[in-house]
Amino acid sequence: MFDLTTRDIKYLSGVGPQRAAVLNKEAGIFSLHDLLYYFPYKYVDRSRIYTIREIDGSMPYIQLKGEILSFEAVGEGRQRRLVGHFSDGTGIMDLVWFQGIKYILGKYKVHQEYIVFGKPTVFNGRFNIAHPDVDAAADVKPSTMGMRPYYNTTEKMKRSSLNSHAIEKMMASVVQQLREPLPETLSPAILAANHLMPLTEALVNIHFPGNTELLRRAQYRLKFEELFYVQLNILRYARDRQRRYRGYVFGKVGDTFNTFYTRNLPFALTGAQKRVLKEIRHDLGSGRQMNRLLQGDVGSGKTLVALMTMLIALDNHYQACLMAPTEILANQHYDTIRELLYGMDVRVELLTGSVKGKRRKDILDGLLTGKVDILIGTHAVIEDTVNFASLGLVVIDEQHRFGVAQRAKLWTKNVQPPHVLVMTATPIPRTLAMTLYGDLDVSVIDELPPGRKPIATLHQFDSHRESLYRSVRKQIAEGRQVYIVYPLIKESEKIDLKNLEEGYRHICEAFPDCTVCKVHGQMKPAEKDAEMQRFVSGEAQIMVATTVIEVGVNVPNASVMIIENAERFGLSQLHQLRGRVGRGADQSYCILVTGYKLSEDTRKRIEIMVRTNDGFEIAEADLKLRGPGDLEGTQQSGVAFDLKIADIARDGQLLQYVREVAQKVVDADPEGTLPENAVLWRQLKLLRKTNVNWAAIS
Ligand code: ADP
Ligand code: MG
Repeated sequence: MFDLTTRDIKYLSGVGPQRAAVLNKEAGIFSLHDLLYYFPYKYVDRSRIYTIREIDGSMPYIQLKGEILSFEAVGEGRQRRLVGHFSDGTGIMDLVWFQGIKYILGKYKVHQEYIVFGKPTVFNGRFNIAHPDVDAAADVKPSTMGMRPYYNTTEKMKRSSLNSHAIEKMMASVVQQLREPLPETLSPAILAANHLMPLTEALVNIHFPGNTELLRRAQYRLKFEELFYVQLNILRYARDRQRRYRGYVFGKVGDTFNTFYTRNLPFALTGAQKRVLKEIRHDLGSGRQMNRLLQGDVGSGKTLVALMTMLIALDNHYQACLMAPTEILANQHYDTIRELLYGMDVRVELLTGSVKGKRRKDILDGLLTGKVDILIGTHAVIEDTVNFASLGLVVIDEQHRFGVAQRAKLWTKNVQPPHVLVMTATPIPRTLAMTLYGDLDVSVIDELPPGRKPIATLHQFDSHRESLYRSVRKQIAEGRQVYIVYPLIKESEKIDLKNLEEGYRHICEAFPDCTVCKVHGQMKPAEKDAEMQRFVSGEAQIMVATTVIEVGVNVPNASVMIIENAERFGLSQLHQLRGRVGRGADQSYCILVTGYKLSEDTRKRIEIMVRTNDGFEIAEADLKLRGPGDLEGTQQSGVAFDLKIADIARDGQLLQYVREVAQKVVDADPEGTLPENAVLWRQLKLLRKTNVNWAAIS
C-alpha cells in the first residue's frame, strides 16, 4: 500500500538532511505524510497580473510581469540592501532584498521576463516590493496561476531557505506522486451520507485548489474528519469508562438532607439550583458513576449545590470530599459549610498543608473510621496518606486549576471511583466544553440569587485618576473595601512586580488614611494568606494585588474593583476579576483603567465588559476574539488543541453536527466490531498512537 508516513522528508528532492532537520524541529515534519498535512494558512489569488501603473498604497499581495532593468546595492551596514529596478512597460518600481544579496545576484538576470509577487509598499515616494517571490515567466505554467497557498514558516526555516514558496514547491512534488490515491480514512457510509470529497482529492485541493468551490469542499472534508475523530475519541472513551466503572447508587434522600433543607437553609433555592440538583440526583441514582461539570457564574450559588449533593452522599452512608485550589478557598469553604450546617450532626474537617501533627492524625483517623463525614481541603486531600472508610463523592472547585492526573488520583480513593462533581466559574462555551470535557455531563446555573444588584462596569482613562480616587474615597468613607489589580504576565514577572510595587507606593500616598495590603504570586503562601486575611477581616480597606485574587475569594463588603492596564487582560479574566465584587447587598463597581490609545480588539473587550455581566456571552466573545488555545482552562486539560484545520471558535456548528455523527457510530457499534466501521477504529487507534494529548485522556 501507498504509505507516506514511512517516507522520510529528507529524501524529497531539494530537501536533504540539513533542511530536513530544520523541518523536523520547527514544523514537526518528518515524513511526506506530515508535509501533506501541513496546511496553508491562506490563499492568494494569482490568476490576475497587475500593472505597475495600477498600484496604489492599499493593495494586498499582487503579481506583476516584467523585467529587471538593473541592480544597485545601496546603504551601509544594517541599511545595506539590493535594489532591482523593475519595469513592465507601464512604469518602474523597486524590488528590494535585505538578505541573500549574493544569492539573488547570482540567480536573477537583467532583461529576462519574470513574474514577481509580493506586497507593494511606499518608500521614499516610490513603490517597492521587499523580498518578492520571483519566477521565470516561462516556468509559470497556467495551472499554477490560480489560487496559491501560503504556509507558515519560522525565522529558522526562512534562514534555511524554507520560505512559503519553497514549501509550496515541495508540496507540488509530493502531490505529483499522488497519482495513486491514499487509503481512505473515513468509512464509505460516512463519506456518502455527508457528501464528503475523497481524501486524496481533498489533500490535493487544500494545497492547490482548482477553484474556490473545490477549496471549500476540501476544507469541509478535512475539518469534518478532524473534528469527527476528536469526538469519536472522547465518546469512545466515555463509553469504555461507563462500562468499566459502575457507580455507587445513592438511592435515597434522607434525614441529613431534609433537615438541612427544612431547618438550616437560610433562603429559597433559585430555579436553576433546583434544576441542577435534580440533574445530579438523577445521576447519583442511576448506577453510573457521575462525572458532571457544574458551570455557574461567580456568586450563582454553586457551593450550596455542592453541599446539598454531599448531604445526599451522607444520607447513603458515604463520605464526601471537597477540594479547592488554594488554602484560602479551602478555608472559606470550611467556614461557610460549617456555618450552614450549624446545629446538625455532621462532622466536617479541614485538611491543608498547614494542618500538621496531632490535628492531622486525628483527621486521618477520623476519615478511616468513618467518623469524619465531610473533608474539605486543598490538594493535600489527594496525598497517599489520606484514606477514607467509604468515599462516595468528590467535589472539585475551580477545576481548571487541577490537572487530569490529580483528578484521576481521587478515583483511586475507593474500590470504585466516587461520583465526581466539578465546579467552575469560568463559563466554557458549549462547543468548547464538548471538546474539552466531552466525557463530562454539563449542568449550568444560569440565574443569580434574587436581590443582587448587577455590578456597574465603567471605563476610565488613566489620565482621569483624580476623579477616580475621589469616588473610591467616598466608597471607603461609607465603609466599603476596594481591590486594585495590576496585570501579571509570565514572561516579565520582574517588570510586573515593579508595576505592583510602584502602584502600591502610589496608592499608599494617595490614600494616607487607609490601610493598604498587598498580595502577589511571588510571596510565600503563608505571607500571602496573612495579607489576604487582613483584607478579609476588614483591617485593610484597600488590597493591591495581581491576579492571584482571581479565584473564589469572597469578601462581600468589597464593592469596588479597579483593574489597572485593563488592556492587558483577556475577557474571561476581566470577568473573573469583576466577580470578586457584587457579592453583598451594596451597589458594586468595576472600573477598567486603560491608556488613551487602544487597539480594535481592546476596544471590543472593554465594550463587551461594560455592556454585559453575562459570563456565557463573555466567554463566547472571548473565544471568538482569542481562539481556544488561549482560553483559560485549556492548558492543563489534557485535550488536544493542535487542531490543524478546524477552528473551535468558527466551526462550532460543524462540531455539534459531527458529534452526532460520531455518537451514532458509537451507539451502533459499541464493541467496535462492525466491519463497515473497521476503517474508523483503525484510524482512531493510529491517531491515539501519534497524538500524545489524545493518549493522555484515554
Ligand atoms: P459561587 O461559588 O457560585 O461563586 P457561592 O456559592 O459562593 O457562589 O454563593 C454566593 C453567595 O450567594 C453566598 O453568600 C451564598 O450564601 C448566596 N446564595 C447561594 N444561593 C442562594 C439563594 N438561592 N438565595 C440567596 N442567596 C444565595
Ligand atoms: Mg465558589
